Amino acid sequence: MSKKKIIIIGSGIAGLSAGCYLQINSYDTEIFELHNIPGGLCTAWKRKGYTFDGCIHSIGGLNPRFKLYHYWNELIDMSQLKFYYHDALGTAEDENGKIATMFTDPDKLEKELISIAPEDKGFIRSFIKGIKKLANFDLMPSKPLELWNPLDYYLRQFKAAPVLYYLMKWSKSVEDMTKECKSKKLKRTLNMDFFSRFPAFFLLISLGSLHNKNSGYPIGGSLPFARLLEKKYLELGGKIHYKLKVIKINTKDNQAVGITLENGETHNDADFVISAADGHYTIFKMLEEKYIDKKIKKLYNEHPKWPSMVLISLGVSRTFENEPTSIELDLNKEFIVDEQSKLMSIPITIYNFDHTLAPEGKTCIRIMLKTDNYQHWSELRKNNIEEYNREKDRISQEVIKILDNRFGNIISNVDVIDIATPATFKRYTNNWMGSTQGWNWLPSLVPEFIKKELPGLENFYLIGQWTAPGGGVSTAFQSGRDITLIICKKDKKKFQVK
Ligand SMILES: Cc1cc2nc3c(=O)[nH]c(=O)nc-3n(C[C@H](O)[C@H](O)[C@H](O)COP(=O)(O)OP(=O)(O)OC[C@H]3O[C@@H](n4cnc5c(N)ncnc54)[C@H](O)[C@@H]3O)c2cc1C
Repeated sequence: MSKKKIIIIGSGIAGLSAGCYLQINSYDTEIFELHNIPGGLCTAWKRKGYTFDGCIHSIGGLNPRFKLYHYWNELIDMSQLKFYYHDALGTAEDENGKIATMFTDPDKLEKELISIAPEDKGFIRSFIKGIKKLANFDLMPSKPLELWNPLDYYLRQFKAAPVLYYLMKWSKSVEDMTKECKSKKLKRTLNMDFFSRFPAFFLLISLGSLHNKNSGYPIGGSLPFARLLEKKYLELGGKIHYKLKVIKINTKDNQAVGITLENGETHNDADFVISAADGHYTIFKMLEEKYIDKKIKKLYNEHPKWPSMVLISLGVSRTFENEPTSIELDLNKEFIVDEQSKLMSIPITIYNFDHTLAPEGKTCIRIMLKTDNYQHWSELRKNNIEEYNREKDRISQEVIKILDNRFGNIISNVDVIDIATPATFKRYTNNWMGSTQGWNWLPSLVPEFIKKELPGLENFYLIGQWTAPGGGVSTAFQSGRDITLIICKKDKKKFQVK
């Protein structure tokens, strides 16, 4: 019997994962990707001898005690890779120096936090207890929610029972949770960057996961990691067509049958079409808003997204041996990214933990400046490229001055400056409003369930970060595995991993 044909749009982590698992399960797949490299947001780029990483701080699934480790190993031999395990989530600093370090070791963290906020000892102890209790909880379900039966719900509750109390206790956002702290220093330290808007248990689980070496950073960075999936996919007989943008998903009698490319070519021989590309572009452009209901409209109109960012990468001709790898530096005056985005602190990553990224004696530094103002950056780039470049220049020079104040010897040692704006994220990955991780996970016990199917359309699935709030590399990877389970079930096939 001839194999069923599946067209996949996008070679990000979700598209590559789906491609690999589908090939293993005897489907004939082809990926169409607008960029000339795999990985999507999971990427990096080279400038004058430096490799600037655009993604992974840490990915989950590195500890064999957790399911995800075994899933990764179905496609990648994880034991061959080297990981760096962060011993701190970051150090909060202000103009007077260090406030506190968010150590991943809970005992060390407890001491650190009590030393800055003895008046909040009770809260801190309860927070640390939460980290220890949640550290061994495997968040990852063994199959997609679409395939759950009543027994799966029952078993999940049973497995979650020992930690349910802690999940519920810490289900408010970090911002809300820290309202009960008396110490300003403690509030500041716990409200690390993007964690402050997430359910607090996400922070507790992340700390636990870093400590028990279930999360870490792959040495070499994000692009080589994505390339491992590309390699596996090609070895399995998959085909990737780079530099081809899909502009339409073709349908016949409300069944997806193929795609139209920007160059006018059509491919209408698919049994299934999977979009592993941006959700908004898929639903509102490629499918022309034809397969949509109130719930989807509400999601796209109201649900908060991860912001985009101005991402500054610097190649600096010096080392930073005794500095933390991640610093959140509070500023004494607003840093204006754009009219709508004024920051009182900047997160700095010093890549002194991956020497493969810079020539000897040199270091890469990354600064992520959040902004939700995609419109501003995209219009500026389109209508006034000189002003766009001037703005990029202004921001990078201000950042360099701040770093020079903090570390010394920066201004004279900057070899390379590279700046990506929300317009850059959109251009290279087509993500809606330049969002870097899809939907935010709002404070609640369980993230919102987003269907991979669209109402009224057969033989079509949407996967990737826009179908799982919180986003991330592991989630995208899991969604590729999940969709294969769903398709195998539909075709009454046994799901294979080899
Ligand atoms: C600075 C930064 C730091 C991050 N840090 C982490 C981290 O530490 N840990 C973590 O887990 N996650 C992190 N993430 C998030 C993570 O990178 C993403 O959530 C994940 O990679 C999303 O994968 P995806 O496959 O769902 O989507 P994408 O990566 O967006 O892939 C979609 C692919 O589809 C292609 N495409 C889009 N439209 C079309 C079209 N019309 N035709 C053809 N191709 C198309 C795109 O070019 C892209 O290759 C970070 C992201 C950024 C930007």
